[in-house]
Amino acid sequence: MQIHLSEILSKEGKAVEKKIELERTSFQFHGEEFPIVEKSPVELVITNTGNQELLIKVKVSLSVAIPCGRCLKDVITEFCLDFSREADMKLSEEEREEQLDENNYIAGYQLDVDALIADEVVLQWPMKVLCKEDCQGICSVCGQDLNLKQCGCDRTVLDPRMAAFLDIFEQFKEV
Ligand SMILES: [Zn+2]
Ligand SMILES: [Zn+2]
Repeated sequence: MQIHLSEILSKEGKAVEKKIELERTSFQFHGEEFPIVEKSPVELVITNTGNQELLIKVKVSLSVAIPCGRCLKDVITEFCLDFSREADMKLSEEEREEQLDENNYIAGYQLDVDALIADEVVLQWPMKVLCKEDCQGICSVCGQDLNLKQCGCDRTVLDPRMAAFLDIFEQFKEV
């Protein structure tokens, strides 16, 4: 969704309120794609604060399916975004790009609302997503979901440090 900013910029103190639908259906994070399963309309307020500067306020709630870090089951993760950004329209596009790092959501006089929201979602992305605090994960040998049942696989041998420890233990037994 693109919003044209030239009209807002034409008058100091002018504010525009908009309710729009987010167009994107997924977010990218660290090269992976995560589907949006639920979204509210985006509430947007853009104010011309004078001196060719804009204040952009955004409110939106989103639910994104992110796999559990241990068992890979999808966890519906909610993002309740309520944030604002300032944009100095006196700057050239290159200067603004430097300010905003790599993610430029304003090109010329067009505000890319989807890009702006994606930018904020990345900032708020959770460090760790778990389906539950004590998720047992999946067996690294047979793939069994250990929350459902134990499979009885011997997983210790897969950890080289543990394997070395067991070797020493075996040696002791032989002596
Ligand atoms: Zn899990
Ligand atoms: Zn197993």
